[in-house]
Amino acid sequence: MIPYGRQEITNSDIKEVEKVLRSDFLTQGPVVPKFEKSVAKYCRASYAVAVNSATSALHIACLALGLKKGDFLWTSPNTFVASANCARYCGASVDFVDINPNTFNMCIKALSEKLRVAKKKGKLPKIVIPVHFAGQPCEMKAIYKLSKKFGFKIIEDASHAIGASYDKIKVGSCVHSDITVFSFHPVKIITTGEGGMALTNKNDLAEKMFRLRIHGITNNKSLMKFRPKGEIWNYQQIDLGYNYRMNDIQAALGLSQMRRLDKYIKIRHKIAKVYDKQFSNLPIKTPWKSLNFYSSYHLYPIRIQEDLNLKTQKKIYEDFRKEGIAVNLHYIPVHRQPYYENLGFKKGTYPESEKFHREVISLPMFPTLTNKLQNFVINTVTKVIKKYE
Ligand SMILES: *Cc1c(COP(=O)(O)O)cnc(C)c1O
Repeated sequence: MIPYGRQEITNSDIKEVEKVLRSDFLTQGPVVPKFEKSVAKYCRASYAVAVNSATSALHIACLALGLKKGDFLWTSPNTFVASANCARYCGASVDFVDINPNTFNMCIKALSEKLRVAKKKGKLPKIVIPVHFAGQPCEMKAIYKLSKKFGFKIIEDASHAIGASYDKIKVGSCVHSDITVFSFHPVKIITTGEGGMALTNKNDLAEKMFRLRIHGITNNKSLMKFRPKGEIWNYQQIDLGYNYRMNDIQAALGLSQMRRLDKYIKIRHKIAKVYDKQFSNLPIKTPWKSLNFYSSYHLYPIRIQEDLNLKTQKKIYEDFRKEGIAVNLHYIPVHRQPYYENLGFKKGTYPESEKFHREVISLPMFPTLTNKLQNFVINTVTKVIKKYE
């Protein structure tokens, strides 16, 4: 089966990991800060906090921004469940902002309208999490402007989008947000096996996240509570934190993969360009492109026109799988998940996300996809679509 995404592990990756395995530190040692520095430098952010997953990064990002019971967090329904779950971990309520049918990202018009209504009801969100779906950067300048007007914080869920940029601003630079989160799960752009990172330019947020990653423990004397003379206190727990550490084995892999990040993005663009061209005569919509937005193409989602697809998405999906192409659906709108339906969310509330879900299919997109395999995918798409046209 050709998957929709997969990692590439090279001999030099293996060598770097082996070095750690033969060293004194298996858990967090000298390589984790090196990896953090490498990502922060690449994105031009001041601080980077490496953790064991993007889900953990989203959780400590919410905690650092003070999210708690009674607060609201808004995100896109067209995302992985983790973008919403982080609010629930903090006891906060989740709400969603529907997507723009062209970019598949949070719709700015829907966001500003919803903010206007929420303000009247006194229910403004504390945090908004825009998701750079498929690697396509959100309209961050507009969201940032709204955050100033309505007073909410921004966490960018950039799990798909390391290497992406808009107006020459790298996603991860946090120019238009408080915190940006990356995922290093193997299907994402670069991998550490499992892993994630939270970037920020704010010293207080960074300090808090570093501490929440290790149980809420500090060894900073100035933060420690006074203790009677003569007692040795080389660390103190001052918050309720977690064991969310990344280890040096993961960081070594990530650091090694960082060297190929730009190359990976270029290859992904090349693959996308071929798909775009080959599908231009078919009744399918290819990912949105704009001069000022540079996608990382984590995914290559195609929209099959609804009139065709309503009857056939399932058949097309199965046909692809029969041909050996493991296409996928990104995403089942989060509010349609049974957990969220139990919280009261209803079908039909976010129609653009629901329509998108009925039309979308993610095609294979990863740096080791050969020309031959891509041609096979293109021929299969053409054949399958023609069959139902
Ligand atoms: C993968 C993903 C996550 C979670 O990443 P993990 O590192 O697996 O925890 C969160 N948000 C989005 C949009 C993702 O795609």
